[in-house]
Amino acid sequence: MSHNAPVVPDTMRAAVLSSIEKGLEIHTIRTPRPRAGEVLVKVSACGLCHSDLHVIGGAIAFPLPAVLGHEVAGQVVELGPGTEHSGLQVGQQVAGAFLMPCGSCPACAAGRDDLCGPFFSMNRLNGTLYDGETRLADCEGNPIAMYSMGGLAEYCVIPVTSVAPVPDTMDPVASAILGCAALTAYGAVRRSADLRAGQSVAVVATGGVGSNVIQLSKAFGAKDVIAIDISDEKLDAALALGATAVVNSATENARERVFEMTGGFGVDIAFEVLGRPQTWETALNVLRDGGRMVPIGLGAGVQTAGVEINRTVRRSQSIVGSYGALTRQDLPEVIRLAEAGIIRYEDIVTRQVSLDEVADTYDALRRGEIQGRAVVKM
Ligand SMILES: [Zn+2]
Ligand SMILES: [Zn+2]
Repeated sequence: MSHNAPVVPDTMRAAVLSSIEKGLEIHTIRTPRPRAGEVLVKVSACGLCHSDLHVIGGAIAFPLPAVLGHEVAGQVVELGPGTEHSGLQVGQQVAGAFLMPCGSCPACAAGRDDLCGPFFSMNRLNGTLYDGETRLADCEGNPIAMYSMGGLAEYCVIPVTSVAPVPDTMDPVASAILGCAALTAYGAVRRSADLRAGQSVAVVATGGVGSNVIQLSKAFGAKDVIAIDISDEKLDAALALGATAVVNSATENARERVFEMTGGFGVDIAFEVLGRPQTWETALNVLRDGGRMVPIGLGAGVQTAGVEINRTVRRSQSIVGSYGALTRQDLPEVIRLAEAGIIRYEDIVTRQVSLDEVADTYDALRRGEIQGRAVVKM
């Protein structure tokens, strides 16, 4: 035991969602403690992601009360038992990934962290970790569900499968976005799209994840990176992040413009980053023959999008869904790319707010006012 191990207080402040009507409120709750294979992290920052809005608004059912927040950076303050071989140490700066593989199910054994069964059944449906219990409770001891690690709090417990060291040279606040916005983009570009140098890309919706898709597509050698959005402000930001062209699909015909820009062919890969029927349609409409559409955005509950059957069949187009990435392999690589300046993570974070401003900032996100990513600085 180190003599200068940090003192962890018994209680902490957290953004708690008690009911859809009340929305997020700041409560004092018990500080969680790590169990086997887990670490306790003192949160330095937590990103506000669009997919949280589906839970806050009630479109995706989740047990309440709950603490959301699935994209965090912070410092390890306590190691649970069985973490000796994780390489993690108290005092180390880390990033936590939203997709927390259990590490022992058949999908995890096959290296498919993105398909981990217990992550879906226990965390995404029940708000617990893999022993079937949450680590969070109010001051009376009543359980509070965890959406991923419950990062919108001063402390959070994360399984070691989903934590990777962040060098001290990196920004401890902006690095919060690495565990969802950047990781999701990396999984889509590197894994699902399998992007090759010289291919052309369209990115439909350019928020936090879309901004990272633009940067990574450039880094992987895409020839054209065409950003499509309905906000000129977001499109200007996309150009600054390396998009080679932009299309405002509210005022221009996206298919016509993209085909003009690509010699009449369309793009090899179209990323869809919002999860709405209209953005699916746009992504499919700009795709070339034999192209691949990669949807990344989560829909608001059970939603369907229209796909033109004969065009998909005759033009041999594919649709390859992409959820997160292979956390254990890919989170360290995402951090390396950020350290190397290839993922300009500091440029993605356009707003830093306090925990007390979290509900208002999600409202701004819902209204489409957040360019890139807002993060709560603890
Ligand atoms: Zn997210
Ligand atoms: Zn698993």
